[in-house]
Amino acid sequence: MAAVDAKQYRMVIDGRLVDSASGETMDVVNPATNDVIATVPRASRQDVDRAVAAARAAFEGSWSRVSASKRNRLLMKLSDLIRDRIDEIAALETLNSGKAISSSGAEILGALEDLEFYAGSGTKLMGETIPAPYGLLYYTVRQPLGVAGQIIPWNYPFLMAMWKIAPALAAGNTLVLKPASLTPLTALLLGELCLEAGIPAGTVNIISGPGASVGSYLAGHPDVAKVAFTGETATGRLILQLAAQTMKRVTLELGGKSPNVVFADADLDDAVNGSLFAIFYNSGQSCEARSRLFVQQDVYERFVDRFASAAERIKVGDPFDPEMQVGAIISRSQLESIEGYIRLGIEEGARLVAGGKRPDDPSLGRGNFLLPTVLADVANAMRVAQEEIFGPVAVIIPFKDEAEVIRMANESIYGLAGTVWTRDLGRAHRVAGAIETGVIGINTFATAMPGLPFGGFKQSGIGRERGLETLKQYTELKSVLVNTSPRPVNPWNL
Ligand code: NAD
Repeated sequence: MAAVDAKQYRMVIDGRLVDSASGETMDVVNPATNDVIATVPRASRQDVDRAVAAARAAFEGSWSRVSASKRNRLLMKLSDLIRDRIDEIAALETLNSGKAISSSGAEILGALEDLEFYAGSGTKLMGETIPAPYGLLYYTVRQPLGVAGQIIPWNYPFLMAMWKIAPALAAGNTLVLKPASLTPLTALLLGELCLEAGIPAGTVNIISGPGASVGSYLAGHPDVAKVAFTGETATGRLILQLAAQTMKRVTLELGGKSPNVVFADADLDDAVNGSLFAIFYNSGQSCEARSRLFVQQDVYERFVDRFASAAERIKVGDPFDPEMQVGAIISRSQLESIEGYIRLGIEEGARLVAGGKRPDDPSLGRGNFLLPTVLADVANAMRVAQEEIFGPVAVIIPFKDEAEVIRMANESIYGLAGTVWTRDLGRAHRVAGAIETGVIGINTFATAMPGLPFGGFKQSGIGRERGLETLKQYTELKSVLVNTSPRPVNPWNL
């Protein structure tokens, strides 16, 4: 893996590329080598104030005068600019996040689909007329909220930025987005591309800085109308408290411990291969990773053997090697936290049947790599079955029948995603209906797709991203009452 000269990035505030007011910077590291690859400004509260003021001014000025159809065209222009530079953006994503280059390419394409979905949506944001008594006309309009404060995690840096930016702009809002400190690069580049596309100054502001100081200040800022946050459930709780002070609109996309249920009648090849992808894609660093694998007793041993030996065939290594299916873990501390969970699972009584260690290849030693790991014979009450590990660790739990697996699948504080593998059509729909998650796949590993609402039940979040529903969550609904009667208005006969 070649060393790269550290490049200096700037934030995007009020249409300009700027340093932080203090001049302070933060280093950005390549997780595959732990080399410093870039520096970015370390924003402070002063920079948040600047960015929010710019977004507020743009909301009241230039952006509010841009029609919905013009907004559509600007978003399509942005899409063209991204498409022209897709390989460069994918490479930057891999350099900064450590994910396999094939994953980065697919995720940028996914982000483009989201952008194009929303690009055409602003002109369809319609109100309704409501039946009214004689002499009155009732109608509703959808109005943008104002400034959106958007905070995103490090696992899908470009995609998460797009999930936030595209619907906010399509609905007529302006925004200040803060990427994760570990992965700010593609979001900062996206901010530059927004300017290049002709989106007016101040409409899109991207600031880099620590979550605890800058993120929390943004989430509580009085001039921010809505907070859209993706990250850990624990951070989401803090965000809700901060937003409560000024009763901001809030959407939260939080953690998960998503169940993956394999019935004995399933196509076992599909179930094995699909379940591997569902947990090990992006080294398991996905909120919707199906990390709790429930397998029916009749096929349990057969499934565990096949799943474990296939997990050992997943190609883990240099993220820039197109042959690799899985790259690095985001940071050394995240790697150590995952290793701690593997030790804990073994102490709790689980049987390690694959992985559990770093790769032997010495060329990967400086990076944060871990082999896909499978813990079998897990009980649903164990900590490794209840806590979000956020790494390449699948836990396998045997079950007897449908009623038992529904009960166990729902024994979780989370409710983000799930998968059911069975050839029985009735059972597939019964179980999909009974599992308490916002998204559920039947005989497919897919969960998060452009246009399909995505979000969680229970402590996995509030609200949805990626659908038309999301567009509405960037608006207020206003009811208008009109007097159409020729009679004078005098209700008290005064
Ligand atoms: P995190 O909560 O640590 O950080 C997320 C973002 O919040 C970062 O930008 C961070 O700087 C900022 N932040 C941290 N502390 C803050 C505070 N006190 N106030 C305001 N902002 C703060 O999460 P992470 O480790 O970056 O991401 C992993 C988590 O994200 C996992 O739990 C995962 O499940 C979740 N996630 C959820 C979804 C979803 O759609 N449901 C998608 C991706 C990731």
